[in-house]
Amino acid sequence: MTTKLSEKLANREKSAPEKAGEKARELGAYPYFRSIESAQDTEVIIDGKKVLMFGSNAYLGLTNHPKIKEAAKQAIDDYGTGCAGSRFLNGTLDIHLELERRLANFVGKDAAIVFSTGFQVNLGVVSSLTGRNDYLLLDEFNHASIIDGSRLSFSKVLKYKHNDMEDLERKISKLPAEAIKLIVVDGIFSMEGDIVKLPELVAIAQRYGGSIMVDDAHSLGVIGEKGAGTASHFGLIQSVDLIMGTFSKSMASLGGFIAADHATIQYLKHHARSLIFSASMSPASVASTLAALDIMETEPEWMDRLWANTHYMTKLLQEEGFELGPTESPIIPIYVRDNYKTFLLTRALQDKGIFVNPVVAPAVPADSTLIRLSVMATHTFAQIEEAVSKLSEAFKELQINLKQEAYVAS
Ligand code: PMP
Repeated sequence: MTTKLSEKLANREKSAPEKAGEKARELGAYPYFRSIESAQDTEVIIDGKKVLMFGSNAYLGLTNHPKIKEAAKQAIDDYGTGCAGSRFLNGTLDIHLELERRLANFVGKDAAIVFSTGFQVNLGVVSSLTGRNDYLLLDEFNHASIIDGSRLSFSKVLKYKHNDMEDLERKISKLPAEAIKLIVVDGIFSMEGDIVKLPELVAIAQRYGGSIMVDDAHSLGVIGEKGAGTASHFGLIQSVDLIMGTFSKSMASLGGFIAADHATIQYLKHHARSLIFSASMSPASVASTLAALDIMETEPEWMDRLWANTHYMTKLLQEEGFELGPTESPIIPIYVRDNYKTFLLTRALQDKGIFVNPVVAPAVPADSTLIRLSVMATHTFAQIEEAVSKLSEAFKELQINLKQEAYVAS
């Protein structure tokens, strides 16, 4: 008798986080795929109870905004619920093109093309721009979609230490002058919340003939002119070759884009397989993204509130003595450095009415297990105070030290 697939899977060697996850599951503390019974807002309903949301990427808090919801409904009336095909063939609507023009203008590039998710942008773009004789240089903390894109490329992939410009220079300086050397980097790092050292990175790229792609998934709506992202934040739009963004965070929708000069976008339209061989963004997603963009361009108060809340929460947490790492953004990691305790803490916080996300390997290095808090423009100071007080309570009850000196593998 042959062994069933499920049995073979059960017999695989388990990673430390998987083992800790199983232990947590036995205690009813499994922290993934939690079901939310309401809109994604500062307050959500889980198991019929109100829970304060500190784990959403909707930094501007726009996912429940009446104008955006209205735009999505109108698009369904005008264009239906799906496009039934890829952008390449029958799936291009006039509103896709309008969104591309608006995005290119917003981030300061000649042209843009939208994909159905941000993950697909990175898969398609990172895999297709470099060939056999070329190089991809990646920050070791880059998002999984960049890593997976690099795995699909035929080029050589070099990783440099997180935000370590000396390591980047050491690596790029040895590469052939004529090769494409594409540096791909998160603008704001998704788990740590720090910002790429773009001015130094640009100087190195220019010294050695490198090109640059910045993933602004977490930077759009957060930094730069009206939330135009990392290159705008540093005044370096012309020095960056490609700007990538997603609509699934500040922009309250689903989808993603890449912006660059006309020739590069034209190239990608015929080479990015996740664009060509996948259905286009739905009309409702396009229209809601356009409406979110309208709000970002005309209502700067959302970003102001986001930063006021971010500063307030960071200050309160630091006063309590939490280890926050190098964050410079609404993404606030609290280091726990123990898989099992991270899961227990997530559950304990949910029971106290606070939703946070546990982050373990491979999303972060094994010794950097953390809970990830994210701040929204729409949080009130009272909600932030409550979250910080519940965090302190939960750390005390579970006897977790605020500062974790040594890594405990459990
Ligand atoms: N890049 C980064 C840095 C991200 O954090 C994410 C989403 N977590 C993505 C890309 C993928 O975006 P999407 O959710 O639109 O697929």
